Amino acid sequence: MNLDKNLRYPILEVNLDKLTQNTENIVKLCGQNNIFITGVVKGCNASIEISKIFLDHGCQSIGSSRIEQLISLRKKGIEADLMMLRLPMASEIADVVKYSNISLNSERTTLEQINSECTVLNTQHKVILMYDLGDLREGVWSTEEFINLAEYVETELSRVELYGIGTNLGCYGSVKTTEEKMQQLVQIAEMVEERIQRKLKVISGGTTFALPLVLDGKMPSRINHLRIGEGMLLSKDLQYFFGYNLDFMHKNAIKLIAQIIEIQDKPSFPDGELFVDSFGNFPQYNDKGRQKRALLAVGKQDFGDHNKLFPVDASIEIIGSSSDHLIVDLSQSAKEYRVGDIVEFTLLYQSMLYLFLSASINKVLV
Ligand SMILES: *Cc1c(COP(=O)(O)O)cnc(C)c1O
Repeated sequence: MNLDKNLRYPILEVNLDKLTQNTENIVKLCGQNNIFITGVVKGCNASIEISKIFLDHGCQSIGSSRIEQLISLRKKGIEADLMMLRLPMASEIADVVKYSNISLNSERTTLEQINSECTVLNTQHKVILMYDLGDLREGVWSTEEFINLAEYVETELSRVELYGIGTNLGCYGSVKTTEEKMQQLVQIAEMVEERIQRKLKVISGGTTFALPLVLDGKMPSRINHLRIGEGMLLSKDLQYFFGYNLDFMHKNAIKLIAQIIEIQDKPSFPDGELFVDSFGNFPQYNDKGRQKRALLAVGKQDFGDHNKLFPVDASIEIIGSSSDHLIVDLSQSAKEYRVGDIVEFTLLYQSMLYLFLSASINKVLV
């Protein structure tokens, strides 16, 4: 590896061995429950290396909500099935049909356009119809309409295969993936099967947020597919939000490493008439007395929200941030930090997403 490149901070370090183990663990856990996995790569800007790890270690396909990411993977030589996760825009139907094999859908007009585009390109396309179980993002709301739509795809759209049905919970409405919700999805699937007189290949139960049910052995057996990103990339949500401390999962496969550009003893309460910060907020400050404060050369523009970062040196406390700076308190640390030293952080999903997209961040694979 190029040493110069490694020393250009801030670095987003991706540990390929740890990601491999995370992928194998989740694929195995789900496999034991007859669940196959689409590896979701939108959180890592569709990194080709990470996509390959997902595919080489048991994921059946790769998914993203952005068609340009799937196009880029296809052009880089990925031959596996690619799944378009966001409902297709009318303006991207041609690309969706050309570059992805499967898409999530809920609208009849979109499905008709997919079918027409398939005729133009003389190809086929698989769809998973989305049912809204209450999270209020994508999905058909009425059960009757949903079953009619499924029948319509099955009987009228010759080039579109009704591959299965699915749902998405948690992302907007913060609705929890429960056994009841999953049983409801299975019931709807069985109503569709009754109407079309055959079994569906896929019942897609959700995202990383569905893993707790699998871990508890409570996922209904007919749910046979999940779309997993965070659970393999960071595996921090299960610990942080659900209290599952999975010791077989690496929560530090992806780390932010930033460099210290100033260390000064300063008060913790700003001196002057307090008004507005750079993002238009009127923040509150607590007076904690004097602190050994370090400035790191990375900012909100790169990671979004500093509350989604966790210092690996647990004695370091994050104080705040601005567009280009992260401020931390070193007062409690046993280590004698100096200007030029580095500080490492593990991440929650939001920060990972922003960091992968930031042009200022040096992505280093180890
Ligand atoms: C992002 C996304 C996923 C994956 O979510 P993770 O929390 O990263 O597992 C699954 N399904 C859809 C529709 C998505 O948009």
